[in-house]
Amino acid sequence: MDIKFLKGVGEKRAEAFEKIGIKSLDDFINFIPRAYLKKIPVRQIPQNLSENTLVSGEIIDIRFPRKDNQPLEVTLYDKSGSVEIPIFGASEFRSKQFRLKENFLFWIKIDKENFSSKLKISYRDHIKINPSDALDAGFLKYSYIPIYELSGILKKTWIKPLLLSKIVFNAFSTLIKSDPEYIKETLPDEFLKEYGLISKKEAVLRINFPVEFSDIETARKRLAFEELFYLELILALKKKSTENEKKGITFNRNVADLTNEFKSILPFKLTSAQIRVMNEIYKDMRSDKCMNRLLQGDVGSGKTIVAVFSILVARENGYQSAFMCPTEILAEQHYRNISELLKPLGVNITLLVGAQKKKHREEILNDIRSGKSEIIIGTHALIQEKVEFKNLGFVVIDEQHKFGVMQRAKLKEKGLNPDVLVMTATPIPRTLSMTYYGDLDVSVIDELPANRIPVITALRKDTDKQKIYDFIRSQIKKGRQIYIIYPIIDESEKLDLKSAEENYLLLKNNIFREYKVGMVHGRILWYEKDEVMEDFKNKKLNILVSTTVIEVGIDIPNATVMIIEEAQRFGLSQLHQLRGRVGRGAEQSYCILVAKNLDEVSAKRLNILCETNDGFKIAEADMEIRGPGEFFGIRQSGALNFSCTDLSKDKQILETARNAAFRIIEEDFQLRKPEHIIIKNAFLKNFRNSLYLMEIA
Ligand code: ADP
Ligand code: MG
Repeated sequence: MDIKFLKGVGEKRAEAFEKIGIKSLDDFINFIPRAYLKKIPVRQIPQNLSENTLVSGEIIDIRFPRKDNQPLEVTLYDKSGSVEIPIFGASEFRSKQFRLKENFLFWIKIDKENFSSKLKISYRDHIKINPSDALDAGFLKYSYIPIYELSGILKKTWIKPLLLSKIVFNAFSTLIKSDPEYIKETLPDEFLKEYGLISKKEAVLRINFPVEFSDIETARKRLAFEELFYLELILALKKKSTENEKKGITFNRNVADLTNEFKSILPFKLTSAQIRVMNEIYKDMRSDKCMNRLLQGDVGSGKTIVAVFSILVARENGYQSAFMCPTEILAEQHYRNISELLKPLGVNITLLVGAQKKKHREEILNDIRSGKSEIIIGTHALIQEKVEFKNLGFVVIDEQHKFGVMQRAKLKEKGLNPDVLVMTATPIPRTLSMTYYGDLDVSVIDELPANRIPVITALRKDTDKQKIYDFIRSQIKKGRQIYIIYPIIDESEKLDLKSAEENYLLLKNNIFREYKVGMVHGRILWYEKDEVMEDFKNKKLNILVSTTVIEVGIDIPNATVMIIEEAQRFGLSQLHQLRGRVGRGAEQSYCILVAKNLDEVSAKRLNILCETNDGFKIAEADMEIRGPGEFFGIRQSGALNFSCTDLSKDKQILETARNAAFRIIEEDFQLRKPEHIIIKNAFLKNFRNSLYLMEIA
């Protein structure tokens, strides 16, 4: 049935509903309330709470305002008592809607009047109810009424919250009346039994119109399971189909000599976690399966060296490797460090970034095409059309969360099914990695090199500057170097840039004029950045003032102090990354978070950093505070726009749903078994469009 025939809808509103994706009655099945209001008898109106509630009854008195600033007052009677509801600013049209002896449902907010014991009742919304109408009576029977998101489009058609609730109620009543089995089951019977889930129909009806309060959570959990199960099913399908279809390269040359040689050039002993993940990667490389592996490890855990070894394995087998970084500074650093490390092996390494001189660039492109370049390190310049590889066999994407899906795919396309290693230092909460990277294999470095001393982190006020400066001086006297970070989250923010530059000049020419101070930010040219970074690395600068361009990857062990100005403007994981720039050597390092006008919430947030150095804990906390979508800035991708799932509390459900999905795809890839028909049908009906998710990662 077209929803315009639904009571309370009509032509105009039907159009508005269509714009938010509700075209037919069954679309209401996926329309989930965001809150509930409890209906209570008038007698039970709480005496001291600040609470939103519903009351219903008959109007027994109406008093119209005599002056403009007076409210319209209606008295509502419900057998248990009566209550006077003042309505301020009611138009004449509105006032006339209320008639004596008619029945209404009111949404009111009850507060205690300041400095007196008198109750204050504020009007929120109302809807007329006709108790002799079966639909209305049915609606009134529920003691919890759902409240839905009222998008702007709907508001424009004068739909108010209670009217929307009633429209949804009418929609469900109509659906059920036309066919009691209209809301089809989407999960196999065994699932419901095995995991203790209620049926789809029950869940949909109860999440919208709960009888008991506990119905809401029971229903939500069932719907969350479904949401997660089908998401994981997509990921399992994707993983299985890549495994089935695309044969990867088999890097099967013996690497015993290479391994020994590699060990001999390393200036340190590998941690056991590094060795473990190297083996995991190597195993994938030797098989004919196309590797898609995520290497996760906290800042400073030593991911680069793991990538370098894998690249050498590829080279040993005659293949080129590409190593893509999100910033020029980082590409440059990797280029320099890896060249230095691999000098004894005589490897041909090339740097490719955006702003290289044309002639030089032509040479580089030629070398990549001819295969003379064996390892190509660069920025997203690597994925430009003109870049052609001779035989790209291995791809590393560093700080992969900084890249978009398309960028990662493009680099991969430059080779013929190369093995892919994506690395991230942004610790991802386990629940998120299971959903977002669900089709990748994951390796984790869960151990820091032994020589590390945990960074000491403190939160300081803007007014403590003098002490901070003294501290900086004492560290410089010991020969250490300092980072000072200013918040330019978006490098096009001119105001922020201006203030950072002013601060830089003040530090350089005034406060620290006895020391060498340098600055980098995203708007200076790469070779200038490079020069400054080189100077800092070679200890020609004592202090480096920077924006977040040094957030990821930068590795200068002699720097021991990280000062972050206006720390409250950064996300927790970002702060953890920045902090990861220090504590990379054997000296005690410090991170000082400086905040202006700190409110309680920000203080609580920033204190998490002072309490722990564990990136995973920080990421979990960050996710709880900001929500999973925000966390990755992927809200727009739709991938994590759940309507019922709350990743911060549904870990258990996620794990169960994931295991179930992967198990089913493992045993019945085509979903042909009779017991899986229900899954196949639900998948094709509801999730076919979600196939775009296949694009992810
Ligand atoms: P990240 O995982 O953050 O990318 P890097 O790969 O940059 O970390 O390594 C951080 C620093 O630790 C580098 O200076 C690197 O040379 C050093 N490093 C890596 N592995 C070890 C190890 N096993 N022992 C000591 N130092 C190590
Ligand atoms: Mg790194």
